[in-house]
Amino acid sequence: MVNEITVKIKKKSAQSYIKGYPLLTKEALVTMPDIEEGTILRLVDESNRFLAKGYHGNQNKGIGWILTYDEKQPLDEAFFTILFREAFVKRQVFFNDDTTTAFRIFNGEGDGLGGLTIDYYDGFLVLQWYSQGIYKWKSTLLAALKKAINTLGIYEKRRFDAKGQYLESDDFLEGHIAPEPLIVKENGINYAVYLNDGAMTGIFLDQRDVRKTICDTYAAGRTVLNTFSYTGAFSIAAAFGGAIHTTNVDVANRSIPKTREQFTVNKLDPAEHTIMAEDVFQYFKYANRKALAFDMVILDPPSFARTKKTTFSVAKDYGKLLEESIAITNPNGIIIASTNYAGYGMDKFKQVVQGAFKNQGREYKIVEQFTLPADFVTQSSFREGDYLKVLFLEVK
Ligand code: SAH
Repeated sequence: MVNEITVKIKKKSAQSYIKGYPLLTKEALVTMPDIEEGTILRLVDESNRFLAKGYHGNQNKGIGWILTYDEKQPLDEAFFTILFREAFVKRQVFFNDDTTTAFRIFNGEGDGLGGLTIDYYDGFLVLQWYSQGIYKWKSTLLAALKKAINTLGIYEKRRFDAKGQYLESDDFLEGHIAPEPLIVKENGINYAVYLNDGAMTGIFLDQRDVRKTICDTYAAGRTVLNTFSYTGAFSIAAAFGGAIHTTNVDVANRSIPKTREQFTVNKLDPAEHTIMAEDVFQYFKYANRKALAFDMVILDPPSFARTKKTTFSVAKDYGKLLEESIAITNPNGIIIASTNYAGYGMDKFKQVVQGAFKNQGREYKIVEQFTLPADFVTQSSFREGDYLKVLFLEVK
């Protein structure tokens, strides 16, 4: 059984927990007890009035998550079964849509249980555990999950350290082994995914609406530069939408075969596209030398990355990245600026965009704006849970 301990919340923090803030922070506690991760926390205010119950797990800036405001509610299999069922009911439109077979079915604190996300890949599930604490609950959670949904097979990714770094392992848990690649559909387009091949599966499900908008509205007749292209998912959507040509640039060698494969599984010829393993910043130099310009430039970098040649961090370098892009975007072209950097809200991101255009002396208009899609459920009491920011910028 999991231990339970009562922890006292500082007077000035009690109100935010009453209002539903789900993340427990060290600063909110009168004293941080010496306890194991996974321990149930019973929160009380300084007058010993019950506030909420949750669990201890170290993740990002937090030390745990709130699970219930009902003191009598046991945190058992039945409780989690209900949480999962409620979450799956919310995704009925996705389950009913034959043209999209990969989506998020449980989004951590957005669905009432911080520290765990579950993605659905055409009958297979990928669980992501974000702390040692939540992982201690694994057997109860798996039992609850299997009561709430039938699956073909289950995989897990453990991202235990404070930064959510992935722990290399065999990720298969139980059931059938998924085909490699597994072909999923998104708005009718095929994507090859690998459920047991490291931290990433081949597609970032949170960009679904962005891919759809590229395909439906912006790709036709355009040349596309896709930077930090990974498996080229944005380019596939663009090609479907009638893009003339895509250029895919990613520093990782594995991106080349993976991008070719994404074209091939859609009966598109990868030879008609440019797919290269190169540092994006080197590529910008090359593009300038050759006076290349594009009608659409896509920027979706990781928050932080170090390559042999460059160190990039969104916080320091996004402006520079945008300026390089503006310089090689044709008039009336589109720049798609995306980031999942938690340190930026949408307002700050827009300021960075404004600064970059000002430096380049070019005018622009924001024509589309995206945050997380509907299956990535977030809470209004936890705005920082909506980490995605995407702007479509029309360059004058
Ligand atoms: N935009 C992609 C996801 C990007 S993941 C998509 O929608 O699927 C981040 C990618 O950036 C990784 O594949 C990584 O190899 C690549 N990367 C990191 N630093 C880079 C750099 N300096 N130049 C080129 N690619 C880089």
